[in-house]
Amino acid sequence: MGSQVIAACKCGANAIILIGGGMLNFMETCYFPCMCKGCHEVVQVNLLAKETRCPECRARNPIPYDDPGLQGTPGHHHVVEWRMTDQLDRDLVLTDGKYMCPKCGKMSLEFRDSGLCWD
Ligand SMILES: [Zn+2]
Ligand SMILES: [Zn+2]
Repeated sequence: MGSQVIAACKCGANAIILIGGGMLNFMETCYFPCMCKGCHEVVQVNLLAKETRCPECRARNPIPYDDPGLQGTPGHHHVVEWRMTDQLDRDLVLTDGKYMCPKCGKMSLEFRDSGLCWD
């Protein structure tokens, strides 16, 4: 069962992103927030797609937000933890720390659980 996070920054950047996959498609679908350098947005990308692309501007290889290069201040708690060791050789984790905002370029983007679960 997937969950949903809200990404927000002081500059006004704001996105609602689904995490993970549903009951029926978890083998080929794993949504995760990524930074698109094409349109400067936090976008929802299926990391299990053969070719990852921004859903908005179709730019290739948006950067998943568990990339160390996008992490500023480390958080104390996991907001999201999604086991993908079989498919991606890693677990996808988002913490309550600070991340790079695609709009203003500062390490001031934060993720929080929206409370929604989906399947
Ligand atoms: Zn884009
Ligand atoms: Zn910002």
